[in-house]
Amino acid sequence: MLYCVSCHAVFSTGTSCPLCHKRNIRQVQDSDLCFFTEQTSVMSSVVEDILKQNGLRFVTRPVYGAAISAVTGTVLESIRFYTPAKYYATACELMDTMFPNALEEYMD
Ligand SMILES: [Zn+2]
Repeated sequence: MLYCVSCHAVFSTGTSCPLCHKRNIRQVQDSDLCFFTEQTSVMSSVVEDILKQNGLRFVTRPVYGAAISAVTGTVLESIRFYTPAKYYATACELMDTMFPNALEEYMD
């Protein structure tokens, strides 16, 4: 599997990242944090619960920076989820079960 250093996407083939279209890619390594889903702030708590129930390790990052949300005071609209490479396949299976075809929206 290939890995995008810029946005942490994992993908099977290509010379550039299908998500951010940069060419900063290499073979994925066990310690890499891999992007596997993006959710609204409302849905993210549901997703977090399911990941925890399944014993997955993951980190979340808001799509907009914390500084922006601090200034506007608005709820962050979107949360990206990352998991270490060894959990990536399991995470994708869980997301497929919850949100069939969701990942394809990002892989056009
Ligand atoms: Zn990328």
